[in-house]
Amino acid sequence: MLFRRHFLAGLALTPVAARAAQPLGTVATISILADMVRQVGGNEVDVVSLVPPDGDAHTYEPRPGDLLAVRGARVVVENGLGLEGWMDRLRGASGFAGVRVVAAEAVTPRHFVEDGATTIDPHAWQDPRNGVRYVRAIAAGLAKADPAHADAWRARADAYAAEIAATDAWIAARLAAVPAEKRQIVTSHDAFGYYGDRYGIRLHFVEGIATDAEPSARDMARLIGDIRAQGIRAVFIENMTDPRLMAAVAHDAGVTVGPEVYSDALSPPGGPADTYIKMLRYNTAAFADAMLTNR
Ligand SMILES: [Zn+2]
Repeated sequence: MLFRRHFLAGLALTPVAARAAQPLGTVATISILADMVRQVGGNEVDVVSLVPPDGDAHTYEPRPGDLLAVRGARVVVENGLGLEGWMDRLRGASGFAGVRVVAAEAVTPRHFVEDGATTIDPHAWQDPRNGVRYVRAIAAGLAKADPAHADAWRARADAYAAEIAATDAWIAARLAAVPAEKRQIVTSHDAFGYYGDRYGIRLHFVEGIATDAEPSARDMARLIGDIRAQGIRAVFIENMTDPRLMAAVAHDAGVTVGPEVYSDALSPPGGPADTYIKMLRYNTAAFADAMLTNR
């Protein structure tokens, strides 16, 4: 009898317990956002990134599995600012009915003028103060989808935001050691504009905001001229771009290419930049060391 009562009670409780333990299914467009979701959501969230580590969000082509992932998600986290041109269509086709988070919604966008046309620069996460804004948006979105965990997620978001703010202070101190006239870097696409604005670094690059534009011979020649004239030795390739273009520029300018830096995607797990904070620190160390060798 006793056994029977416990058995029935167990049966009645199982579905509720199982539902409570089910992590909140979340899809992030890029690995940087997926890391932020993981930091805020902890074990109560199960997150996948559509664009893989080392992947290029600008030119990404969704796979059939992505449609199913978005359809089954309760939260989708996107950057916004025009980064994921393929996402509206994917979300629409999936019939997604959950909470949509646009991480950059509270960011003041940076604009970029190229050949007379003004474009919004989507790489806002490269300024850690925007990273904090992203974290707030993500915590609010998770809480909306699953209010039962809202307090825990807000507390974790607060701790994580403090860690990002401490990283921002560390970066500013590290770069303060570089004389102002040496604060110049060359990268293959213009992904570090927010970073440069934040820390007073002058940027040169081969491609514009996106990675799919072919630079003209004139653009290449102008960049090589700048590298020579300014005595720049801090020349970098981002992890998600084709290295050949920058290798050719560096060769013609007579400089060597520095370590790979991380702009639009994290490294695979176990790599030097497999979290957002590690990415910021790794890039900063690489930039600072190389900028000191500028003439
Ligand atoms: Zn980019």
